Amino acid sequence: MSTTDTTLPTYDYDLFVIGAGSGGVRASRIAASLGARVAVAEDRYLGGTCVNVGCVPKKLYVYASEFSEQYTAAVNFGWDAVSPKFNWDTLRDNKTREISRLNGIYENLLNNNDVDIIEGHCRILGPKKVAVGGKVYSVERILIATGGRPFVPDFKGKELVTSSDEVFDLPAFPTRVLVVGGGYIAVEFAGIFSGLGADTQLVYRGEQILRGFDEDVRNFAAAEIAEKGVTIHTQSDIYEVEKLADNSLRATFVDGREMDADLILYATGRVPRTEGLGLETVNVEANLKGQILVNKHFETSEPGVFALGDVTGGIELTPVALAEGMALARYLFDGQEINMDYDNIPTAVFCQPNIATVGLSEAQARERFNDVEIYLSTFRALKNTISGSAQKTLMKLVVSRGDDKVLGAHMVGPDAGEIIQGFAIAIKAGATKTIFDSTIGIHPTSAEEFVTMRTPHGRESS
Ligand SMILES: Cc1cc2nc3c(=O)[nH]c(=O)nc-3n(C[C@H](O)[C@H](O)[C@H](O)COP(=O)(O)OP(=O)(O)OC[C@H]3O[C@@H](n4cnc5c(N)ncnc54)[C@H](O)[C@@H]3O)c2cc1C
Repeated sequence: MSTTDTTLPTYDYDLFVIGAGSGGVRASRIAASLGARVAVAEDRYLGGTCVNVGCVPKKLYVYASEFSEQYTAAVNFGWDAVSPKFNWDTLRDNKTREISRLNGIYENLLNNNDVDIIEGHCRILGPKKVAVGGKVYSVERILIATGGRPFVPDFKGKELVTSSDEVFDLPAFPTRVLVVGGGYIAVEFAGIFSGLGADTQLVYRGEQILRGFDEDVRNFAAAEIAEKGVTIHTQSDIYEVEKLADNSLRATFVDGREMDADLILYATGRVPRTEGLGLETVNVEANLKGQILVNKHFETSEPGVFALGDVTGGIELTPVALAEGMALARYLFDGQEINMDYDNIPTAVFCQPNIATVGLSEAQARERFNDVEIYLSTFRALKNTISGSAQKTLMKLVVSRGDDKVLGAHMVGPDAGEIIQGFAIAIKAGATKTIFDSTIGIHPTSAEEFVTMRTPHGRESS
Protein backbone atom coordinates (compact mmCIF):
# COMPACT_ATOMS: atom_id res chain seq x y z
CA MET A 1 0.00 0.00 0.00
CA SER A 2 1.08 3.60 -0.37
CA THR A 3 3.79 4.79 1.90
CA THR A 4 3.41 7.59 4.40
CA ASP A 5 7.19 8.14 4.52
CA THR A 6 7.69 11.54 2.87
CA THR A 7 11.28 10.69 1.90
CA LEU A 8 9.99 8.06 -0.50
CA PRO A 9 8.04 8.89 -3.63
CA THR A 10 4.28 9.00 -3.26
CA TYR A 11 2.16 7.54 -5.99
CA ASP A 12 -1.28 8.30 -7.37
CA TYR A 13 -2.08 4.57 -7.18
CA ASP A 14 -0.70 1.46 -5.48
CA LEU A 15 -1.77 -0.60 -8.49
CA PHE A 16 -2.55 0.63 -11.99
CA VAL A 17 -4.23 -2.03 -14.10
CA ILE A 18 -4.20 -1.74 -17.89
CA GLY A 19 -7.23 -3.54 -19.32
CA ALA A 20 -10.63 -4.16 -17.70
CA GLY A 21 -11.05 -7.71 -19.02
CA SER A 22 -11.40 -10.93 -17.06
CA GLY A 23 -7.99 -10.77 -15.36
CA GLY A 24 -7.79 -6.99 -14.94
CA VAL A 25 -11.20 -6.55 -13.35
CA ARG A 26 -10.66 -9.44 -10.94
CA ALA A 27 -7.20 -8.18 -9.89
CA SER A 28 -8.49 -4.58 -9.47
CA ARG A 29 -11.51 -5.55 -7.46
CA ILE A 30 -9.69 -7.89 -5.07
CA ALA A 31 -6.73 -5.51 -4.64
CA ALA A 32 -9.08 -2.61 -3.79
CA SER A 33 -11.08 -4.77 -1.38
CA LEU A 34 -7.78 -5.46 0.41
CA GLY A 35 -7.20 -1.72 0.89
CA ALA A 36 -5.05 -0.84 -2.14
CA ARG A 37 -5.63 2.35 -4.13
CA VAL A 38 -6.41 1.00 -7.59
CA ALA A 39 -7.20 2.38 -11.03
CA VAL A 40 -8.06 0.41 -14.15
CA ALA A 41 -7.71 1.84 -17.66
CA GLU A 42 -9.90 0.50 -20.48
CA ASP A 43 -10.01 1.69 -24.09
CA ARG A 44 -12.90 -0.38 -25.49
CA TYR A 45 -15.38 -2.12 -23.23
CA LEU A 46 -15.67 -3.16 -19.60
CA GLY A 47 -15.45 -6.92 -19.18
CA GLY A 48 -12.95 -7.38 -22.01
CA THR A 49 -13.00 -10.10 -24.65
CA CYS A 50 -15.06 -12.67 -22.76
CA VAL A 51 -18.04 -10.41 -22.09
CA ASN A 52 -18.04 -8.42 -25.33
CA VAL A 53 -16.62 -10.50 -28.18
CA GLY A 54 -15.90 -13.90 -26.65
CA CYS A 55 -17.42 -16.51 -24.33
CA VAL A 56 -20.71 -14.79 -23.50
CA PRO A 57 -22.04 -13.61 -26.89
CA LYS A 58 -20.69 -16.80 -28.45
CA LYS A 59 -22.59 -19.04 -26.04
CA LEU A 60 -25.77 -17.02 -26.62
CA TYR A 61 -25.36 -17.63 -30.35
CA VAL A 62 -24.70 -21.32 -29.74
CA TYR A 63 -27.99 -21.57 -27.82
CA ALA A 64 -29.75 -19.84 -30.72
CA SER A 65 -28.25 -22.22 -33.27
CA GLU A 66 -29.32 -25.33 -31.37
CA PHE A 67 -33.03 -24.58 -31.80
CA SER A 68 -33.14 -25.68 -35.44
CA GLU A 69 -32.44 -29.28 -34.47
CA GLN A 70 -34.76 -29.11 -31.48
CA TYR A 71 -37.64 -28.00 -33.70
CA THR A 72 -37.11 -31.07 -35.89
CA ALA A 73 -36.86 -33.36 -32.88
CA ALA A 74 -40.02 -31.84 -31.37
CA VAL A 75 -42.11 -33.16 -34.25
CA ASN A 76 -41.00 -36.74 -33.54
CA PHE A 77 -41.85 -36.18 -29.88
CA GLY A 78 -45.41 -35.38 -30.86
CA TRP A 79 -45.36 -31.60 -31.21
CA ASP A 80 -47.15 -30.05 -34.11
CA ALA A 81 -44.41 -27.46 -34.67
CA VAL A 82 -45.12 -24.48 -36.88
CA SER A 83 -42.36 -24.06 -39.41
CA PRO A 84 -39.63 -22.08 -37.62
CA LYS A 85 -38.04 -18.97 -39.13
CA PHE A 86 -34.88 -17.40 -37.83
CA ASN A 87 -34.48 -13.63 -37.42
CA TRP A 88 -30.86 -12.47 -37.10
CA ASP A 89 -31.70 -8.91 -36.06
CA THR A 90 -33.67 -10.16 -33.04
CA LEU A 91 -30.82 -12.40 -31.89
CA ARG A 92 -28.10 -9.80 -32.45
CA ASP A 93 -30.03 -7.00 -30.75
CA ASN A 94 -31.04 -9.14 -27.76
CA LYS A 95 -27.39 -10.17 -27.43
CA THR A 96 -26.30 -6.51 -27.51
CA ARG A 97 -28.81 -5.62 -24.79
CA GLU A 98 -27.52 -8.41 -22.56
CA ILE A 99 -23.90 -7.37 -23.10
CA SER A 100 -24.76 -3.75 -22.18
CA ARG A 101 -26.35 -5.05 -18.99
CA LEU A 102 -23.18 -6.97 -18.17
CA ASN A 103 -21.01 -3.90 -18.93
CA GLY A 104 -23.09 -2.07 -16.29
CA ILE A 105 -22.58 -4.87 -13.78
CA TYR A 106 -18.81 -4.66 -14.29
CA GLU A 107 -18.91 -0.89 -13.82
CA ASN A 108 -20.84 -1.29 -10.56
CA LEU A 109 -18.48 -4.00 -9.34
CA LEU A 110 -15.51 -1.68 -9.80
CA ASN A 111 -17.26 1.43 -8.44
CA ASN A 112 -18.55 -0.42 -5.39
CA ASN A 113 -15.00 -1.48 -4.58
CA ASP A 114 -13.64 2.08 -5.04
CA VAL A 115 -11.62 1.22 -8.13
CA ASP A 116 -11.15 4.30 -10.36
CA ILE A 117 -12.19 3.50 -13.94
CA ILE A 118 -10.17 5.55 -16.42
CA GLU A 119 -11.51 5.46 -19.97
CA GLY A 120 -9.00 5.52 -22.81
CA HIS A 121 -5.92 3.92 -24.26
CA CYS A 122 -3.16 3.55 -21.69
CA ARG A 123 0.49 3.96 -22.54
CA ILE A 124 3.35 3.08 -20.23
CA LEU A 125 5.87 5.94 -19.95
CA GLY A 126 8.34 4.19 -17.65
CA PRO A 127 8.46 1.75 -14.73
CA LYS A 128 6.34 3.97 -12.47
CA LYS A 129 4.49 6.15 -14.93
CA VAL A 130 1.53 5.68 -17.26
CA ALA A 131 -0.59 8.04 -19.39
CA VAL A 132 -4.23 7.87 -20.43
CA GLY A 133 -5.80 10.54 -22.63
CA GLY A 134 -3.04 13.08 -22.03
CA LYS A 135 -3.08 12.66 -18.23
CA VAL A 136 -0.01 11.19 -16.55
CA TYR A 137 -0.24 9.04 -13.41
CA SER A 138 2.57 8.02 -11.09
CA VAL A 139 2.00 4.46 -9.97
CA GLU A 140 3.73 2.08 -7.62
CA ARG A 141 2.90 -1.05 -9.63
CA ILE A 142 1.62 -1.62 -13.14
CA LEU A 143 -0.41 -4.66 -14.15
CA ILE A 144 -0.59 -5.37 -17.87
CA ALA A 145 -3.84 -7.29 -18.50
CA THR A 146 -4.40 -6.22 -22.08
CA GLY A 147 -5.45 -9.61 -23.46
CA GLY A 148 -5.21 -10.44 -27.15
CA ARG A 149 -6.71 -9.70 -30.54
CA PRO A 150 -7.54 -11.83 -33.57
CA PHE A 151 -4.69 -12.60 -35.95
CA VAL A 152 -5.39 -12.73 -39.68
CA PRO A 153 -2.44 -13.67 -41.91
CA ASP A 154 -1.48 -11.44 -44.85
CA PHE A 155 -2.96 -12.23 -48.26
CA LYS A 156 -4.53 -10.30 -51.13
CA GLY A 157 -8.02 -9.21 -50.08
CA LYS A 158 -7.40 -9.55 -46.34
CA GLU A 159 -9.41 -6.37 -45.73
CA LEU A 160 -12.54 -8.12 -47.06
CA VAL A 161 -12.66 -10.83 -44.41
CA THR A 162 -14.20 -10.70 -40.94
CA SER A 163 -12.61 -11.57 -37.59
CA SER A 164 -14.25 -12.79 -34.39
CA ASP A 165 -14.26 -9.18 -33.09
CA GLU A 166 -16.72 -8.09 -35.81
CA VAL A 167 -18.73 -11.25 -36.42
CA PHE A 168 -21.13 -10.74 -33.52
CA ASP A 169 -22.59 -7.55 -35.01
CA LEU A 170 -23.08 -8.38 -38.68
CA PRO A 171 -25.66 -6.03 -40.24
CA ALA A 172 -27.33 -8.94 -42.09
CA PHE A 173 -27.29 -12.72 -41.78
CA PRO A 174 -25.07 -14.36 -44.43
CA THR A 175 -26.52 -17.33 -46.29
CA ARG A 176 -23.14 -18.75 -47.41
CA VAL A 177 -20.34 -18.71 -44.84
CA LEU A 178 -16.75 -19.78 -45.14
CA VAL A 179 -14.98 -20.17 -41.79
CA VAL A 180 -11.19 -20.37 -41.92
CA GLY A 181 -9.31 -22.06 -39.06
CA GLY A 182 -9.25 -25.35 -37.20
CA GLY A 183 -9.17 -24.21 -33.58
CA TYR A 184 -12.05 -24.03 -31.16
CA ILE A 185 -13.26 -20.57 -32.19
CA ALA A 186 -13.47 -21.55 -35.88
CA VAL A 187 -15.23 -24.81 -35.11
CA GLU A 188 -17.72 -23.11 -32.78
CA PHE A 189 -18.63 -20.45 -35.35
CA ALA A 190 -19.04 -23.07 -38.07
CA GLY A 191 -21.60 -24.77 -35.80
CA ILE A 192 -23.34 -21.48 -35.04
CA PHE A 193 -23.77 -20.46 -38.68
CA SER A 194 -24.75 -23.94 -39.78
CA GLY A 195 -27.32 -24.26 -36.98
CA LEU A 196 -28.77 -20.86 -37.84
CA GLY A 197 -29.30 -22.00 -41.41
CA ALA A 198 -26.29 -20.82 -43.40
CA ASP A 199 -24.53 -23.05 -45.90
CA THR A 200 -21.27 -23.43 -43.96
CA GLN A 201 -17.82 -24.50 -45.13
CA LEU A 202 -14.95 -24.94 -42.66
CA VAL A 203 -11.53 -24.52 -44.24
CA TYR A 204 -8.39 -25.65 -42.42
CA ARG A 205 -4.89 -26.10 -43.74
CA GLY A 206 -3.93 -28.96 -41.37
CA GLU A 207 -4.86 -32.63 -41.58
CA GLN A 208 -7.51 -32.61 -38.90
CA ILE A 209 -9.34 -29.85 -36.98
CA LEU A 210 -8.94 -29.23 -33.23
CA ARG A 211 -5.21 -29.77 -32.87
CA GLY A 212 -4.22 -30.44 -29.26
CA PHE A 213 -7.32 -32.46 -28.39
CA ASP A 214 -7.33 -36.25 -27.99
CA GLU A 215 -7.15 -37.96 -31.41
CA ASP A 216 -10.35 -39.99 -30.90
CA VAL A 217 -12.12 -36.78 -29.90
CA ARG A 218 -10.85 -34.92 -32.97
CA ASN A 219 -11.85 -37.63 -35.42
CA PHE A 220 -15.22 -38.34 -33.83
CA ALA A 221 -16.10 -34.63 -33.50
CA ALA A 222 -15.09 -33.90 -37.11
CA ALA A 223 -17.35 -36.71 -38.36
CA GLU A 224 -20.29 -35.55 -36.21
CA ILE A 225 -19.85 -31.91 -37.23
CA ALA A 226 -19.85 -32.95 -40.89
CA GLU A 227 -22.89 -35.17 -40.31
CA LYS A 228 -24.69 -32.10 -38.95
CA GLY A 229 -24.13 -30.18 -42.16
CA VAL A 230 -20.79 -28.32 -41.98
CA THR A 231 -18.59 -29.19 -44.97
CA ILE A 232 -15.02 -29.53 -43.72
CA HIS A 233 -12.12 -28.91 -46.12
CA THR A 234 -8.82 -29.94 -44.53
CA GLN A 235 -5.39 -29.35 -46.09
CA SER A 236 -6.88 -26.31 -47.80
CA ASP A 237 -5.38 -22.85 -47.85
CA ILE A 238 -6.81 -19.63 -49.25
CA TYR A 239 -4.55 -17.67 -51.56
CA GLU A 240 -6.68 -14.57 -52.18
CA VAL A 241 -10.12 -13.10 -51.64
CA GLU A 242 -11.90 -10.74 -54.01
CA LYS A 243 -15.24 -8.96 -54.05
CA LEU A 244 -17.64 -9.83 -56.87
CA ALA A 245 -20.06 -7.48 -58.64
CA ASP A 246 -22.98 -8.72 -56.48
CA ASN A 247 -20.95 -7.90 -53.31
CA SER A 248 -20.31 -11.53 -52.46
CA LEU A 249 -16.77 -12.75 -51.84
CA ARG A 250 -14.74 -15.22 -53.85
CA ALA A 251 -11.97 -17.19 -52.14
CA THR A 252 -9.33 -18.66 -54.41
CA PHE A 253 -7.38 -21.55 -52.92
CA VAL A 254 -3.70 -22.30 -53.35
CA ASP A 255 -4.68 -25.32 -55.48
CA GLY A 256 -6.81 -23.12 -57.77
CA ARG A 257 -10.26 -24.06 -56.39
CA GLU A 258 -12.74 -21.21 -55.94
CA MET A 259 -15.51 -20.81 -53.40
CA ASP A 260 -18.06 -17.99 -53.16
CA ALA A 261 -19.53 -16.79 -49.88
CA ASP A 262 -21.35 -13.85 -48.28
CA LEU A 263 -19.03 -13.93 -45.27
CA ILE A 264 -15.49 -15.18 -44.82
CA LEU A 265 -14.65 -15.48 -41.13
CA TYR A 266 -10.98 -15.84 -40.26
CA ALA A 267 -10.46 -17.50 -36.87
CA THR A 268 -6.78 -18.22 -37.35
CA GLY A 269 -5.42 -17.54 -33.89
CA ARG A 270 -4.88 -14.64 -31.53
CA VAL A 271 -1.88 -12.47 -30.65
CA PRO A 272 -1.14 -10.43 -27.52
CA ARG A 273 -2.46 -6.86 -27.58
CA THR A 274 0.65 -4.83 -26.85
CA GLU A 275 0.82 -2.37 -29.74
CA GLY A 276 1.01 1.26 -28.58
CA LEU A 277 1.45 0.12 -24.99
CA GLY A 278 4.89 1.70 -24.53
CA LEU A 279 6.67 -1.55 -23.66
CA GLU A 280 9.88 -0.06 -25.10
CA THR A 281 10.00 2.32 -22.11
CA VAL A 282 10.34 -0.54 -19.64
CA ASN A 283 12.52 -3.62 -19.43
CA VAL A 284 9.70 -6.07 -20.12
CA GLU A 285 10.75 -9.20 -21.99
CA ALA A 286 8.49 -10.95 -24.45
CA ASN A 287 8.88 -14.14 -26.48
CA LEU A 288 8.86 -14.33 -30.28
CA LYS A 289 5.06 -14.37 -30.32
CA GLY A 290 5.02 -11.11 -28.33
CA GLN A 291 3.68 -12.85 -25.21
CA ILE A 292 4.98 -11.14 -22.07
CA LEU A 293 7.25 -13.33 -19.95
CA VAL A 294 6.52 -13.46 -16.22
CA ASN A 295 7.76 -15.39 -13.19
CA LYS A 296 5.51 -17.34 -10.82
CA HIS A 297 4.49 -14.06 -9.18
CA PHE A 298 3.38 -12.68 -12.56
CA GLU A 299 6.22 -10.17 -12.39
CA THR A 300 7.93 -9.23 -15.65
CA SER A 301 11.66 -8.62 -15.99
CA GLU A 302 10.92 -5.00 -14.94
CA PRO A 303 10.44 -4.92 -11.14
CA GLY A 304 7.00 -3.58 -10.22
CA VAL A 305 5.52 -4.34 -13.65
CA PHE A 306 3.25 -7.40 -13.69
CA ALA A 307 1.31 -9.18 -16.44
CA LEU A 308 -1.32 -11.92 -16.56
CA GLY A 309 -4.04 -13.46 -18.68
CA ASP A 310 -3.96 -13.83 -22.46
CA VAL A 311 -1.18 -11.26 -22.93
CA THR A 312 1.19 -13.76 -21.32
CA GLY A 313 0.09 -16.65 -23.58
CA GLY A 314 -0.36 -19.86 -21.64
CA ILE A 315 -3.85 -21.25 -21.23
CA GLU A 316 -6.07 -18.59 -22.78
CA LEU A 317 -9.33 -19.09 -20.91
CA THR A 318 -11.38 -16.72 -18.78
CA PRO A 319 -11.34 -18.82 -15.59
CA VAL A 320 -7.54 -18.95 -15.82
CA ALA A 321 -7.24 -15.13 -16.15
CA LEU A 322 -9.67 -14.75 -13.23
CA ALA A 323 -7.68 -17.12 -11.03
CA GLU A 324 -4.43 -15.35 -11.91
CA GLY A 325 -5.92 -11.92 -11.16
CA MET A 326 -7.16 -13.10 -7.77
CA ALA A 327 -3.87 -14.79 -6.91
CA LEU A 328 -1.81 -11.71 -7.80
CA ALA A 329 -4.00 -9.30 -5.80
CA ARG A 330 -3.82 -11.53 -2.72
CA TYR A 331 -0.06 -11.89 -3.12
CA LEU A 332 0.58 -8.16 -3.45
CA PHE A 333 -1.84 -6.87 -0.83
CA ASP A 334 -2.42 -9.78 1.55
CA GLY A 335 0.96 -11.54 1.48
CA GLN A 336 -0.50 -14.83 0.22
CA GLU A 337 1.89 -17.03 -1.75
CA ILE A 338 0.91 -17.79 -5.36
CA ASN A 339 0.39 -21.46 -6.13
CA MET A 340 -1.35 -21.53 -9.49
CA ASP A 341 -2.04 -25.09 -10.59
CA TYR A 342 -2.33 -25.35 -14.37
CA ASP A 343 -2.86 -29.13 -14.39
CA ASN A 344 -6.26 -30.65 -15.09
CA ILE A 345 -7.92 -27.46 -16.29
CA PRO A 346 -11.20 -28.53 -17.87
CA THR A 347 -12.28 -26.94 -21.11
CA ALA A 348 -15.13 -27.16 -23.59
CA VAL A 349 -15.68 -26.48 -27.25
CA PHE A 350 -19.25 -25.36 -27.82
CA CYS A 351 -19.52 -26.84 -31.26
CA GLN A 352 -22.36 -29.20 -32.09
CA PRO A 353 -22.13 -31.66 -30.53
CA ASN A 354 -20.16 -30.14 -27.63
CA ILE A 355 -16.68 -31.33 -26.75
CA ALA A 356 -15.35 -31.22 -23.21
CA THR A 357 -12.16 -32.52 -21.77
CA VAL A 358 -10.07 -32.60 -18.61
CA GLY A 359 -6.63 -34.01 -17.96
CA LEU A 360 -4.40 -35.89 -20.37
CA SER A 361 -5.19 -37.04 -23.88
CA GLU A 362 -4.27 -40.62 -24.70
CA ALA A 363 -1.12 -39.48 -26.54
CA GLN A 364 0.01 -37.26 -23.64
CA ALA A 365 -0.60 -40.08 -21.16
CA ARG A 366 1.37 -42.57 -23.25
CA GLU A 367 4.30 -40.13 -23.35
CA ARG A 368 4.40 -39.82 -19.55
CA PHE A 369 3.25 -43.22 -18.28
CA ASN A 370 4.34 -46.75 -19.15
CA ASP A 371 1.08 -48.52 -18.74
CA VAL A 372 -2.00 -46.72 -19.96
CA GLU A 373 -5.47 -48.18 -20.22
CA ILE A 374 -8.22 -46.70 -22.39
CA TYR A 375 -11.96 -46.96 -21.84
CA LEU A 376 -13.98 -45.86 -24.84
CA SER A 377 -17.68 -45.83 -25.53
CA THR A 378 -19.71 -44.49 -28.43
CA PHE A 379 -23.47 -44.68 -28.30
CA ARG A 380 -26.68 -43.02 -29.37
CA ALA A 381 -28.24 -41.05 -26.51
CA LEU A 382 -31.75 -42.07 -25.48
CA LYS A 383 -33.22 -38.82 -26.80
CA ASN A 384 -31.94 -39.56 -30.27
CA THR A 385 -33.68 -42.93 -30.47
CA ILE A 386 -36.79 -41.04 -31.58
CA SER A 387 -35.58 -37.46 -32.16
CA GLY A 388 -34.64 -38.24 -35.75
CA SER A 389 -31.06 -37.14 -35.10
CA ALA A 390 -28.32 -39.61 -36.04
CA GLN A 391 -25.93 -37.90 -33.62
CA LYS A 392 -23.80 -40.13 -31.44
CA THR A 393 -21.91 -39.50 -28.20
CA LEU A 394 -18.31 -40.42 -27.36
CA MET A 395 -16.88 -40.89 -23.87
CA LYS A 396 -13.31 -41.79 -23.13
CA LEU A 397 -11.29 -42.34 -19.97
CA VAL A 398 -7.50 -42.48 -19.89
CA VAL A 399 -6.24 -44.47 -16.90
CA SER A 400 -2.78 -45.16 -15.50
CA ARG A 401 -2.72 -48.93 -14.84
CA GLY A 402 0.15 -48.57 -12.36
CA ASP A 403 -1.77 -46.63 -9.71
CA ASP A 404 -5.29 -46.88 -11.20
CA LYS A 405 -5.55 -43.05 -11.40
CA VAL A 406 -7.89 -41.56 -14.00
CA LEU A 407 -5.62 -39.24 -15.99
CA GLY A 408 -8.12 -37.84 -18.46
CA ALA A 409 -11.83 -37.73 -19.27
CA HIS A 410 -13.09 -36.71 -22.70
CA MET A 411 -16.55 -36.36 -24.13
CA VAL A 412 -18.19 -35.41 -27.41
CA GLY A 413 -21.94 -35.08 -27.06
CA PRO A 414 -24.77 -32.89 -25.80
CA ASP A 415 -23.99 -30.95 -22.61
CA ALA A 416 -20.40 -32.24 -22.52
CA GLY A 417 -19.23 -29.01 -20.81
CA GLU A 418 -21.81 -29.38 -18.04
CA ILE A 419 -20.91 -33.04 -17.49
CA ILE A 420 -17.11 -32.80 -17.54
CA GLN A 421 -17.04 -29.98 -14.95
CA GLY A 422 -18.01 -32.49 -12.24
CA PHE A 423 -15.56 -35.12 -13.42
CA ALA A 424 -12.83 -32.46 -13.35
CA ILE A 425 -13.23 -32.29 -9.56
CA ALA A 426 -12.90 -36.06 -9.28
CA ILE A 427 -9.76 -36.12 -11.42
CA LYS A 428 -8.22 -33.18 -9.57
CA ALA A 429 -8.92 -35.02 -6.32
CA GLY A 430 -6.96 -37.99 -7.70
CA ALA A 431 -9.90 -40.35 -8.22
CA THR A 432 -9.02 -43.89 -9.31
CA LYS A 433 -10.83 -46.01 -11.86
CA THR A 434 -11.98 -48.17 -8.94
CA ILE A 435 -13.72 -45.12 -7.44
CA PHE A 436 -15.33 -44.31 -10.78
CA ASP A 437 -16.54 -47.96 -10.97
CA SER A 438 -17.95 -47.88 -7.44
CA THR A 439 -19.91 -44.69 -8.15
CA ILE A 440 -23.59 -45.37 -8.85
CA GLY A 441 -24.80 -43.81 -12.09
CA ILE A 442 -27.78 -41.53 -12.54
CA HIS A 443 -30.18 -43.38 -14.79
CA PRO A 444 -31.12 -42.73 -17.53
CA THR A 445 -28.47 -40.15 -18.44
CA SER A 446 -25.57 -40.08 -20.86
CA ALA A 447 -23.22 -39.13 -18.02
CA GLU A 448 -23.72 -42.50 -16.29
CA GLU A 449 -21.59 -44.06 -19.05
CA PHE A 450 -18.53 -42.52 -17.36
CA VAL A 451 -19.07 -44.76 -14.32
CA THR A 452 -20.13 -47.89 -16.18
CA MET A 453 -17.29 -48.43 -18.65
CA ARG A 454 -15.74 -51.68 -17.42
CA THR A 455 -13.86 -53.19 -20.35
CA PRO A 456 -10.61 -51.61 -21.48
CA HIS A 457 -10.51 -50.68 -25.15
CA GLY A 458 -8.43 -53.28 -26.96
CA ARG A 459 -5.71 -50.89 -28.04
CA GLU A 460 -2.02 -51.69 -27.62
CA SER A 461 -0.57 -50.14 -24.46
CA SER A 462 3.00 -48.94 -24.89
C1 LIG B 1 -14.51 -15.74 -29.79
C2 LIG B 1 -13.92 -16.12 -28.45
C3 LIG B 1 -14.56 -17.06 -27.67
C4 LIG B 1 -14.05 -17.41 -26.43
N1 LIG B 1 -14.70 -18.36 -25.70
C5 LIG B 1 -14.24 -18.70 -24.48
C6 LIG B 1 -14.94 -19.65 -23.68
O1 LIG B 1 -15.96 -20.18 -24.10
N2 LIG B 1 -14.45 -19.94 -22.46
C7 LIG B 1 -13.30 -19.35 -21.98
O2 LIG B 1 -12.91 -19.64 -20.85
N3 LIG B 1 -12.61 -18.45 -22.72
C8 LIG B 1 -13.05 -18.11 -23.95
N4 LIG B 1 -12.38 -17.18 -24.70
C9 LIG B 1 -11.09 -16.65 -24.17
C10 LIG B 1 -11.32 -15.55 -23.15
O3 LIG B 1 -12.17 -14.56 -23.69
C11 LIG B 1 -9.98 -14.93 -22.75
O4 LIG B 1 -9.12 -15.96 -22.31
C12 LIG B 1 -10.11 -13.91 -21.63
O5 LIG B 1 -10.97 -12.87 -22.00
C13 LIG B 1 -8.72 -13.34 -21.27
O6 LIG B 1 -8.84 -12.33 -20.31
P1 LIG B 1 -7.75 -11.19 -20.19
O7 LIG B 1 -8.10 -10.44 -18.95
O8 LIG B 1 -6.40 -11.74 -20.31
O9 LIG B 1 -7.96 -10.25 -21.47
P2 LIG B 1 -9.25 -9.57 -22.10
O10 LIG B 1 -10.50 -10.13 -21.56
O11 LIG B 1 -9.04 -9.62 -23.56
O12 LIG B 1 -9.18 -8.07 -21.59
C14 LIG B 1 -8.19 -7.17 -22.01
C15 LIG B 1 -8.77 -5.77 -21.98
O13 LIG B 1 -7.71 -4.83 -22.10
C16 LIG B 1 -8.13 -3.74 -22.91
N5 LIG B 1 -6.94 -3.09 -23.42
C17 LIG B 1 -5.96 -3.63 -24.21
N6 LIG B 1 -4.95 -2.75 -24.39
C18 LIG B 1 -5.30 -1.64 -23.70
C19 LIG B 1 -4.65 -0.37 -23.48
N7 LIG B 1 -3.42 -0.12 -23.97
N8 LIG B 1 -5.29 0.56 -22.72
C20 LIG B 1 -6.51 0.31 -22.18
N9 LIG B 1 -7.15 -0.87 -22.34
C21 LIG B 1 -6.55 -1.83 -23.08
C22 LIG B 1 -8.99 -4.42 -23.97
O14 LIG B 1 -9.88 -3.51 -24.60
C23 LIG B 1 -9.72 -5.48 -23.13
O15 LIG B 1 -10.95 -5.00 -22.64
C24 LIG B 1 -12.86 -16.80 -25.94
C25 LIG B 1 -12.20 -15.84 -26.72
C26 LIG B 1 -12.73 -15.50 -27.97
C27 LIG B 1 -12.02 -14.46 -28.80
